[in-house]
Amino acid sequence: MQLSDAEIREILIRRKREKKRRLRQRRRRTLIILLLLIVLIFVLVKVIGHGGKGSGKDKKSAGAAASGENRGIIFIDPGHGGMDSGSDDGNERYEKDDTLKLGLAVRDKLEALGFTVVMSRTEDELVDRTERGKMANKAGAQLFVSIHRNQSDSGGQGVEGFIPKEDDKNSRLLGENIMHFLGKAGFAERTIRAGTLGDPNDDYEENAATEMPSVLIEVGFLSSDDDNYRFDNNLDQNAKAIADAINYTFMLLHEPDAAAEYAKMMSQTDEACNTALTATGEALSGLNAIQSRAADGTIEGIDPEA
Ligand SMILES: [Zn+2]
Repeated sequence: MQLSDAEIREILIRRKREKKRRLRQRRRRTLIILLLLIVLIFVLVKVIGHGGKGSGKDKKSAGAAASGENRGIIFIDPGHGGMDSGSDDGNERYEKDDTLKLGLAVRDKLEALGFTVVMSRTEDELVDRTERGKMANKAGAQLFVSIHRNQSDSGGQGVEGFIPKEDDKNSRLLGENIMHFLGKAGFAERTIRAGTLGDPNDDYEENAATEMPSVLIEVGFLSSDDDNYRFDNNLDQNAKAIADAINYTFMLLHEPDAAAEYAKMMSQTDEACNTALTATGEALSGLNAIQSRAADGTIEGIDPEA
C-alpha cells in the first residue's frame, strides 16, 4: 500500500508528539525525585543536627570514665537474696533474681559514667537489711538506691518508691528522678512516699540506716505480666534509665554546671523529636501535593501542552 504525503506527514507528527510526551514524562519524574531528595536531606539534616549535639555530650561524659576520673561513690543494693527470695509470681520467678540482674546492669552503666559503685551483694546471698544501709555509710557512698520489685493481688502496675520518713528533699529528688526516667522507659509512674507502705512514721530497714539520700525503688510489679514484659524486654534500657537518673541527681547535688548542661541536652532531645515529627509531617503533605500536581500535569516549570 502506497502512503500519501499527507499520511506520511501525519505519522511523522504523531511520532514527534509521542517523543515529546515521553520527554515530558521523564522530566516530570526527574523533578519529583529531585524534590523528594531535597525533602529527605532536609529532614536528615534536622534530625542528625540535633542528635549530633546530644551524642557529643554523651561522649564527653563517657570520656570522663575512660580517663579514670572518680566522680563519686554510689551504693546499689539489689533487694533480698539467698533464703529471702522476696516476692514471686507464683511461677518460680523470684524478686531476688530480678533485683540482682537489674542491679548488676545499673552498676555497669554507672561505672561507664565515671562513678565508683559499691554493692550490697553481687550474687545470690542473704545480707541483713539494716546492714546494707550501714555498708553504704562505711563506703562513704553519696547516694543509696535499693532495687526491688512490687507485688499486689489487686492488679497494680508501675514504679513506686520509698524514702526515709524524714522526707528529706534530696532523697525525694533521687526517688522522683528514678521514677520519671523509668516512666520515660515505659513504666507507669505511681508515687514516691516517705516511710513504709503502711506507716509514714516508720522506715524500711535499709532507709533507717542510711546517712545519705536514699530510696528503695520498686521497679514494676512481679504480679503484672505487662510489667514483667517491660522488665525483661527492656533490661538494658531500664538499667540506663536508673543510672541516668542517679547521674542527673548526682549532678544536681554535686556538679551544678554539668546538671544545667544535662537539663539543656534533655530538652534539646525532646525538641529534636518534635522538630523531626513536624518536618516529617510537612514532607508528607508536600509529597501529596507534588503527587497530585504530577497526576494532573501542572507541576511548575513544565507546561503539559509543550
Ligand atoms: Zn522487695
